[in-house]
Amino acid sequence: MYIEFKNEPFTNFALPENKLAMEQALKSVAVQKGKHYPLVIGNAKVDTEARITSVNPSNFQEIIGTTARANVELAEQAVQSALKAYESWQYESPEVRSRYLFKAAAIMRRRKFEFSAWLVEEAGKNWAEADADTAEAIDFLEYYAQQMLKYAQGMPIISIPGEQNDCFYIPLGVGLIIPPWNFPLAILTGMTAAAVVAGNTVIMKPASSTPVIAAKFMELWEEVGLPAGVVNYLPGSGGAIGDYLVSHTQIRFINFTGSKEVGLRINELAAKTSPGQKWIKRVIAEMGGKDAIVVDSEADLDEAAAGIITSAFGFQGQKCSACSRAIVVADVYDEVVSKVAAKASQLKLGSASDPTVNLGPVIDKNAYSKILEYIEIGKSEGRLVTGGEKGATEGYFIQPTVFAEIDPQAKIAQEEIFGPVVAIIKAKDYDDAIRIANDTEYGLTGAVYSKNRVKLEKARREFHVGNLYFNRKCTGALVGVHPFGGFNMSGTDSKAGGADYLLLFLQAKSVCEKL
Ligand code: GLU
Repeated sequence: MYIEFKNEPFTNFALPENKLAMEQALKSVAVQKGKHYPLVIGNAKVDTEARITSVNPSNFQEIIGTTARANVELAEQAVQSALKAYESWQYESPEVRSRYLFKAAAIMRRRKFEFSAWLVEEAGKNWAEADADTAEAIDFLEYYAQQMLKYAQGMPIISIPGEQNDCFYIPLGVGLIIPPWNFPLAILTGMTAAAVVAGNTVIMKPASSTPVIAAKFMELWEEVGLPAGVVNYLPGSGGAIGDYLVSHTQIRFINFTGSKEVGLRINELAAKTSPGQKWIKRVIAEMGGKDAIVVDSEADLDEAAAGIITSAFGFQGQKCSACSRAIVVADVYDEVVSKVAAKASQLKLGSASDPTVNLGPVIDKNAYSKILEYIEIGKSEGRLVTGGEKGATEGYFIQPTVFAEIDPQAKIAQEEIFGPVVAIIKAKDYDDAIRIANDTEYGLTGAVYSKNRVKLEKARREFHVGNLYFNRKCTGALVGVHPFGGFNMSGTDSKAGGADYLLLFLQAKSVCEKL
């Protein structure tokens, strides 16, 4: 089976029919708010007395839903369920496994507005960001399904007389999937689907701020008839079940996206061999960023300012790809600062369900307090140009905030804030700008605005990030087009949505028969 891959188009909400469809989806989601979702372990729905409550960050009085909260015993049951399912799933043909993903993509496409509506309500994404999240999830399903068909052909080898040789890919075993809350559908889908289509079985432990979207995703697997136990839905806290599962003897790999601190801890725990463990665990970690947009003196400054705004404030800056540093060459510094400030102050802050809103809320109370603390630090480290305040207090609203005259070594220029805050740094010249851009422990995304080819070539060689963009924003990687993942403390250099991503969930076996 071959289906040509095309990225799922984004929805134009200026068209009345699309606006109406989204309004209807929001209404249908409203009716389902407050529902409870049990764990899914094998074919059993398991409830617990302890619960996770998911609230709407635009209005935290409103409950989106509750889920069961797993403990260690239930985590153990989930491991056993995944092991049991692995016995047969590993031998299911790649074509059959891919078909589950193609089918899931088709259903998700049909229910696109509904999934997007959940993203608006549970994650606080504005309509366009929610739509992009759902589109990316559909892309991951179809792209990895296709990639699996490619890997089914095995590794090309040399033939020699007198022997018949083969080298083919087999799965790893039972994996633990720990996705982030910031792309609660797309990244959850990509991380899970890649592992599963490769023949592994998994325990999916969703982020505690967005467990309802994950429950909807689990329902989708049930709808396509994925065999029980291939994906197990196990919300629970990192403290209660995370460490237990990461250290578990029978867990073969951990696929994690989230903060640097948690990623490093998982890596450390996973490196310790438990008694009876037969393998070296594989850790795939996609962590943070302190991403920079460099603006050269030979650049279109309006476009640069627009790129900074979109990259810094899209989904309230809660992307590991977000622009949190704008590094501007001295000659054009003042002009860029005033253009960015003017655009930032025009952005509308408010409830994510309002279609005219640019910035919704940040995800939760912790994020809210942490970002506000960084804003206070920023006030002492440089000049507050615009923003810097809370918004309406029924949700976690923070104004889009721009600081200027920030030293490259300042806290807000070095630490990941994960909120709507950008620090504008002055560079002496272009070379200095590239040096400052690289002067961080991270290396995820970056962009350069310049019309000078020699300067772009220098950045191509020397700007050390996994995703580098010229004359455009540094967010919004497309599946298959911009394989996504970074260097250094940004992670293990995996490329989500790239042609070699599935290899992370496979191992190759060489078989030789003497003829
Ligand atoms: N892939 C997303 C982008 O290119 C970012 C993913 C993330 O924040 O984890 O903007």
